[in-house]
Amino acid sequence: MSDIKLKRKSIRVVTGPMASGKTKVFENLLNRAYIANQPVLSFTSTKDSDAKRRTIKSRDGDYVPIDYEIDSLDHLIKHVEDYLRPIEKEYTQLTAELITNPKSKKLKTKLSVVKRKMNLVVLADEVQFYDQGTEYLTIRKYLKKIIEISLKGPQFIFFGLNLTHELYVYKIVCLLAGISDEFIIRTALCEWCGKEGAKYSKKIKDVVGSYDAGKDKYFPACDKCYYNPKMDFPFLQKRWKKTKKRKKCKVI
Ligand SMILES: [Zn+2]
Repeated sequence: MSDIKLKRKSIRVVTGPMASGKTKVFENLLNRAYIANQPVLSFTSTKDSDAKRRTIKSRDGDYVPIDYEIDSLDHLIKHVEDYLRPIEKEYTQLTAELITNPKSKKLKTKLSVVKRKMNLVVLADEVQFYDQGTEYLTIRKYLKKIIEISLKGPQFIFFGLNLTHELYVYKIVCLLAGISDEFIIRTALCEWCGKEGAKYSKKIKDVVGSYDAGKDKYFPACDKCYYNPKMDFPFLQKRWKKTKKRKKCKVI
């Protein structure tokens, strides 16, 4: 949370590898919005395998689920516009009524409530999966729309991976960074040496044994350990045995 500044920003992008705490920041912001009774719309990707489990505990003990699972910024924009449409209509009506009746306290109170509803917080997780096959020119239209919406009051905070394990950038994350007021790259601790500064993940192929046989695993790695072939899975297992902190292989 410490690197999320509290000053008002309209569009923010938080990236980093797995295990860099992005989801924790996402959940904290979501929880904070609920506690403050601030309107919030939360999104994740349809490809997010953790989406079903991903719920946060609100102040009164209820579990608050993610609002929508989507696969395009287009869907996100539609949901935000659906939310805003009736509020904008109410806002226009109230301001018109205030012109004919400028001293009405009742109208002024109503207007302040409507303005508060406009301060929507849009939280979107796993954005690296959004619009994977969408053409740049189409994405450009979505980005323009997001800027236009943000000018009306809503804030957008996007969370996603910065790089693939092959060190390719995720197009959508870069494009969102281009329109953002704040762009944060979080780092993780290297799974091999434990040092701070892992910006991407190393792929371990076909992990066998007691570790979910046949599936590839990804672990955050620093620059040195990423390129060091000795830093393989048996090395990790030895390290876990020594530290005894990790009871079993957990994919984050
Ligand atoms: Zn390392």
